[in-house]
Amino acid sequence: MRHVTILGATGSIGLNTLDVIRRHPDRFRVYGLAANIRVEEMAELCREFRPQRAVMADADAAETLAQRLSDLPEITVLQGEVGLCEVAAAESVDTVMAAIVGAAGLPPTLAAVRAGKRVLLANKEALVMSGQLFMDAVTASGAELLPIDSEHNAIFQCMPADRVRDPRGAGITRILLTASGGPFRSHSNEDLKTVSPAQACAHPNWAMGQKISVDSATLMNKGLELIEACWLFNTDPSRIEVHVHPESIIHSMVEYADGSVLAQLGSPDMRTPIANGLAWPERIDAGVAPLDLFAIGRFHFERPDLHRFPCLRLAAEAFHAGGTAPAVLNAANEEAVAAFLAGDLGFTDIPVIIERTLAATEVVAGSSFEIIFAKDAEARRFAREQIERLAV
Ligand code: NDP
Repeated sequence: MRHVTILGATGSIGLNTLDVIRRHPDRFRVYGLAANIRVEEMAELCREFRPQRAVMADADAAETLAQRLSDLPEITVLQGEVGLCEVAAAESVDTVMAAIVGAAGLPPTLAAVRAGKRVLLANKEALVMSGQLFMDAVTASGAELLPIDSEHNAIFQCMPADRVRDPRGAGITRILLTASGGPFRSHSNEDLKTVSPAQACAHPNWAMGQKISVDSATLMNKGLELIEACWLFNTDPSRIEVHVHPESIIHSMVEYADGSVLAQLGSPDMRTPIANGLAWPERIDAGVAPLDLFAIGRFHFERPDLHRFPCLRLAAEAFHAGGTAPAVLNAANEEAVAAFLAGDLGFTDIPVIIERTLAATEVVAGSSFEIIFAKDAEARRFAREQIERLAV
């Protein structure tokens, strides 16, 4: 029996995780559920899964949740970052799904890592921000880090399990990272200027939260994934080639020295990588529809257009700059995406804000988590000023 905490329980990944868990009451028990402000959804999940702890990051939301659950005294309601870290590191937990969106996920994900848990990493921003420090913490504690991003989970499945951090030793020559291309793959530069948040969130293949949907539309998601892959698989961008594959059936590929290319395929359904991580190294039913290749018929591949989608280039540059640059990239992107979703920034201004913030923020090498959080705050302040200027 695995005892699981789900950080980001009310989100798209959280609900998909609970769907897999629901199918296997003999294997998984929910210890903790955590979210931010969506109290009603959380109360409903608590009634169904009866966790020992429920956390709302927002203090008012925690108070309301405690009132809603007053007839269930066995559930303790906690609040804030302290509560998030407590359910991530609790003694009786062995598995933590890290699925909070954005930088807010770093402290509790790190708490799970430091406590040596099996960490199912969906929250790519945490790893992008802190890279080497995060991986050092994994090594120091012996935590079991399993990738949930569908591409990274595919790469993981195509590698020998004991050589994930030693791709050269395993004879791996390249990682072929696939990308759907997002909803605006065929839009001209001119058309991109007027796209709306609703259009950006209407992904052709995946149903996801708003932030990652916009990232997918700008290709920043692929940029963050490029950085994520470098850390997870101990490699660099020169050994990773992005392939736009609009069908989203091949979730990524690994090329070997003998010319073999191994791919992982499946319906675009996050329950596959989630089930893979929860049960690894076993395989369990995830409720996913079987793949019908006859119905799909053809696969297509194209190179990403870095001119129309500069975010992918900016991410590679930030990785090469090293130190705090990826944290700055991530912070500026989070601010720009939030402004776009609020209707305060145009879609094509998102990379403008990120590029300006990167140019204006000094890179600190050999950093610490304190420096990462300080740079994150500095970058957000600068990005918000720039957003206001562009909005005027
Ligand atoms: P959603 O927006 O659907 O859900 C986000 C979750 O995080 C919600 O439970 C939300 O709570 C919670 N949350 C937000 N802010 C905070 C905070 N400050 N403190 C605590 N909890 C918070 O996002 P997704 O599920 O789509 O994505 C989650 C992560 O997984 C992201 O990092 C994303 O990049 C990654 N990912 C997602 C994929 C997908 O298919 N959706 C695929 C691959 C990776 P509340 O509901 O209360 O606001």
